Amino acid sequence: MSITRDQAVAMDVDDRLAPLREQFVLPEGVIYLDGNSLGALPKTTASRVQSVIANEWGQDLIASWNSAGWIDLPRRTGDQIARLIGARAGEVVVADSTSVNLFKVLSAAVRITKARDPERTVIVSERSNFPTDLYIAQALAEQYGYHLRLVEKEEIVDAINPQLAVLLLTHVNYRTGAMHDMAALSAKAHAGGALIVWDLAHSAGAVPLHVHADDADFVIGCGYKYLNGGPGAPAFVWAHPRWVDRFQQPLSGWMGHAVPFAFETGYLPASGIARYLCGTPAVIAMAALACGVDSVLAAEPYGGMAALRAKSLALTRLFADRVSTFAAEFDLAIVSPMDDALRGSQVSLACEAGGYAIVQALIARGVIGDFRAGDALQSADILRFGFTPLYTRFVDAWDAAWHLHEVLRSGIWRDACYAERHAVT
Ligand SMILES: *Cc1c(COP(=O)(O)O)cnc(C)c1O
Repeated sequence: MSITRDQAVAMDVDDRLAPLREQFVLPEGVIYLDGNSLGALPKTTASRVQSVIANEWGQDLIASWNSAGWIDLPRRTGDQIARLIGARAGEVVVADSTSVNLFKVLSAAVRITKARDPERTVIVSERSNFPTDLYIAQALAEQYGYHLRLVEKEEIVDAINPQLAVLLLTHVNYRTGAMHDMAALSAKAHAGGALIVWDLAHSAGAVPLHVHADDADFVIGCGYKYLNGGPGAPAFVWAHPRWVDRFQQPLSGWMGHAVPFAFETGYLPASGIARYLCGTPAVIAMAALACGVDSVLAAEPYGGMAALRAKSLALTRLFADRVSTFAAEFDLAIVSPMDDALRGSQVSLACEAGGYAIVQALIARGVIGDFRAGDALQSADILRFGFTPLYTRFVDAWDAAWHLHEVLRSGIWRDACYAERHAVT
């Protein structure tokens, strides 16, 4: 029994998290289901950034490094993010991009395992991991004379063997929305003598995370997806306290130095997570990111990440349930796991043909999802719909499924105008 639109509207009326949507600028007539790629704009961001530019930069100039606390932004924003991932204050910093932070933590993890067990020379990741993670891991493996082995999800546990140095996993898969059990896999990696690095790009701000309780070794994550930090927002990094001081990370820039303003000739890494900083923080971008993270922390009085998670699961379930009423007729397959414990905050649909055009036709109707092409190994095209519980309503999920049905039923997506490719998909 699939729910009616009236029932979806009633769910919004009953939704205690509904007021959180008011925090965002959302264009009229748009159902935004791409917050997993670029989070929506918080209403506070423009005036905050404007004030950083006009007052702090414009009036106070260089004094703002101290007077406005610019120099502490990587740590202050890191402390905010720590609350979302189960880390403690002082354990997270914001810096650089996810790709760059992955290079830092993977290098540290490789050097730790190399020192204690040089026979272990394999890094394992998933073939379906986000490509930048694989590219970074490839380059790093080459640099150390290691081997990067790519496996399917079902093969991960068997790949934990005496050759494994580091297991690199993305917690929620960007294509399918499938979520790993962080505690179970971390325990298995450790029992097998390896370290584990988790990429939280599609998790932070979307699902509750417990990096301590789940015993991760290193985590990195993205600022511009569910954290709503704005395009190209800086990323974050956490290292377990047992490792954080063990090795200096390879990008030994001055902001990670123990005393950057002593201008010493030799590098001495800061103690703690500050050593994962490299160069001067992007102050304007970090001001925007802080607003984005605040928009997620605003859920704390309503039950925080646990409440957001419950809503996210209800949203994705509703959408998948509606789509399942017509999926077979149009050769669509729901590829995201329908078991709540195994699903992140998105629903991905596989289709044999026309995926790009279908998404373009949806966008023309105001339903913004995105498209990920299949390749030789993952043959089906994927239509992705991300459900950010902070600002997505139940009626949006219902309407999005209705629009998808309309696009497919009418065949409008076959119109040539929807086939034209843009640079960013
Ligand atoms: C989005 C995403 C990234 C993005 O990396 P950038 O360095 O910000 O471009 C990296 N890894 C994963 C798994 C992602 O989903």
